[in-house]
Amino acid sequence: MAEEQAAGELRRFLLEGQPLRGHWVRLGAAWQELRARRAYPPLVEALLGEAASAAVLLAATLKFAGTLTVQFAGSGRVRLLVAQCSDDFRLRAIAHHDLADGEAVGFEELVGAGNLVVTVQSDNSSANYQGIVPLEGGTLGECLERYFEGSEQLPTRLKLAADREHAGGMLLQRLPAGAADAASGEGAGALLQSTWEDLQQGLQSLAPESLLDAPAEAAVQRVAGEHDCRLFGATPVSFACRCSEERVAGLVRSLGIDEARAALAEQGALKVTCEFCGRDYRYDAVDVEQLFASEALPRADRGPLN
Ligand SMILES: [Zn+2]
Repeated sequence: MAEEQAAGELRRFLLEGQPLRGHWVRLGAAWQELRARRAYPPLVEALLGEAASAAVLLAATLKFAGTLTVQFAGSGRVRLLVAQCSDDFRLRAIAHHDLADGEAVGFEELVGAGNLVVTVQSDNSSANYQGIVPLEGGTLGECLERYFEGSEQLPTRLKLAADREHAGGMLLQRLPAGAADAASGEGAGALLQSTWEDLQQGLQSLAPESLLDAPAEAAVQRVAGEHDCRLFGATPVSFACRCSEERVAGLVRSLGIDEARAALAEQGALKVTCEFCGRDYRYDAVDVEQLFASEALPRADRGPLN
């Protein structure tokens, strides 16, 4: 669908004959839809756009069906940030903050001292994992590079950018050399090392704005330089929330019946609004009693906020 394509695009690329790969993402309508759910000051919005792009780039590295969540909660002005992307590239993100609209603070004050947590939930829960790194570095991209260094032990470079119209990013990764590469000797190793260095330099020299407006071909060409690079077709990325009746029912059950009844008595109905998409879920007295009567049903698993 043409409309869906315009929401956001992910493109994969690789260096011919080398265990080097990359992903490029740009979010257009998907980012604007996400922004439209809640008003953020520009600094928070930029950080959220970068985190959303990062979640897509990281989800692109998943080898199985599931969701990837980039999250941090620290002592900074942004108290909580969650960006989540599924393996079929449905994206949602949210931030809580206490920053005023015109306030200017640096990255460190924005995120504060805390941890960046990357969580992978596989659909069959066989490959769940969580990586935690301190929020250190001048940018979200640098924090994520440390995550890959520590948790995945894959040399990775990231550049992220966001403005009001677009969010985007590029990820470069050096994969472990296969047995065939190892057998081909020192010359091949030196070539791989120098190609990897060229790519990193290329990414460093890439203006962040070009991730927001230049065609993917131009950005990838700029990074790959004279190396032989193959760029694959676009995969659509969309804004979509994973909230559902079932998940919210699980959340209400987790309150306990006493608290649910107290909220009912106070407000006449129990209302739960999904923070990611703004959808309202409403339970009257009968709904609440039914929810707790069906307690024996399997509990819905819950995402970070619902
Ligand atoms: Zn929702």
